[in-house]
Amino acid sequence: MNRHKHDLVVVGAGSGGYAAARTARDFGCDVALIDRGPLGGLCILRGCMPSKALLASSDALYDAREAGALGIHATGLRADIPFIAARKRALVKDFADYRIDGIHRFPLYTGDARFLSPAEISVGDDVIEAAKFVIATGSIVPPGAIEGLEETGYVDTDGILELESIPDSVIVLGGGYTACELGQFVARMGARTTMLIRSGHLLTDMDDDVGDALTGYFREEGIDVVTKTKLLRVAWRGDKKVVTYEAGGRQHEAIADEIFYALGRIPNVAGLGLENAGVAYHTSRGIGVDATLRTSNPKIFAVGDVTGEYMLVHVAIYQGEVASRNACLNGAEEADYRLVPAYTVFSDPQVAGVGKNEKELQRTATPYVRGRYDFAEHGKAMCLGKTKGFVKILADPQSGRMLGATVIGPQGSELIHEAIVAMNYNATVADFMRIPHLHPTLSEIWTYPAEECAAQIGMKIPGDEQMELATTAEPSS
Ligand SMILES: Cc1cc2nc3c(=O)[nH]c(=O)nc-3n(C[C@H](O)[C@H](O)[C@H](O)COP(=O)(O)OP(=O)(O)OC[C@H]3O[C@@H](n4cnc5c(N)ncnc54)[C@H](O)[C@@H]3O)c2cc1C
Repeated sequence: MNRHKHDLVVVGAGSGGYAAARTARDFGCDVALIDRGPLGGLCILRGCMPSKALLASSDALYDAREAGALGIHATGLRADIPFIAARKRALVKDFADYRIDGIHRFPLYTGDARFLSPAEISVGDDVIEAAKFVIATGSIVPPGAIEGLEETGYVDTDGILELESIPDSVIVLGGGYTACELGQFVARMGARTTMLIRSGHLLTDMDDDVGDALTGYFREEGIDVVTKTKLLRVAWRGDKKVVTYEAGGRQHEAIADEIFYALGRIPNVAGLGLENAGVAYHTSRGIGVDATLRTSNPKIFAVGDVTGEYMLVHVAIYQGEVASRNACLNGAEEADYRLVPAYTVFSDPQVAGVGKNEKELQRTATPYVRGRYDFAEHGKAMCLGKTKGFVKILADPQSGRMLGATVIGPQGSELIHEAIVAMNYNATVADFMRIPHLHPTLSEIWTYPAEECAAQIGMKIPGDEQMELATTAEPSS
């Protein structure tokens, strides 16, 4: 047994853990990392970056196919899947090498971590003692809880990202963001795609108008989205995989070459010995934390996917920074989730949200006004031939302060930042409208819902004052 001692030990060197370690080092803290590998974290190795690299290719293929609407007729279009996979691998390697370089600037213990006591953790033959710990062990895909699924076999997000050829047909189980992004990827690459979802539309947690719109666009593209299903069992039939499900009171079958299991991830808590450290947890909901990111043991913090709530990279990083500041300074800084976007979905059209959506406001009986504007009515979107979707702003009917904004449409994951910045500065819809917008741009679409909200509240619309002055100054005839 080799014994070591540090001020702070961070378990897991993914996005959350790495941010925690860097922040602690900035405070002069002696911080060490533990990771069982492969090093790089989910976002870089098997999450955001490989998926967005693949989507760039399927989006390009789709745009080329659709370019006839702009008078461009492409022939002989072909997706070179081995090239696309190799490009993705090269990008992931680049990103991972850079991160691994950063990780090696910390004392690093490689292997599975297990708490022995509230102040000691073991990794192989090493026992490391620390005054404080940050747990950032991420999430895992839970075993498929559908009869026959494990025996029949399936690919999860890891498997889809590693495909070297596209199956002729795919059944996607799930309608969340990874199901939408990667389901649309395989469909655009040529797989006959069926999506079986529990709720009435894709992206259950999103507002109905957003989820219904995306469901409609997917169907227009030829993806068979089957809503309100209950999955019953999975089996082989010849060389095909069959999913039996219930919908509309009857049993149905979907048959395909491959099943993409995309029913989400759960926090990764197994084997950490949390009971030895006095850290309360739940096997599917993860480690509970307070607003300062402290677990039930105040000297042990948890951040990122392992806390089970948001499962987004920027939240993991933010939580890592807050937790480390609190750990190093014995602080009580509370994480502020006011601006945490519901999520960004890199489907086409893209979906993104900040603050509250209508479902959440209605659930908490919070009064609001709503302004909405369709890309089909927006000049720049019409010029680009990208007219799917809309933007929506929700505002407080008294103060006019923005409560939330959503976009489903072209460049949605970029456009949402305008609303994020405005809400960061507590803007009212009238403040938002006063920001000059270049013309013609997609961004200027935000001014319409802002104006609609301001009109409902009775707020002064910029220019009103000048118009009033001009009207008063006009000589009466
Ligand atoms: C396909 C896909 C696409 C995604 N796209 C997006 C996106 O576009 N935008 C977005 O915001 N989020 C996206 N996400 C989610 C995002 O990747 C995660 O929320 C984020 O990476 C979680 O970071 P983390 O630090 O909590 O965990 P991780 O990055 O998973 O890090 C956990 C680390 O802990 C280590 N570890 C685990 N257990 C142990 C142990 N017992 N001992 C030692 N080490 C251990 C692991 O090796 C790993 O390095 C996507 C996820 C997937 C699957």
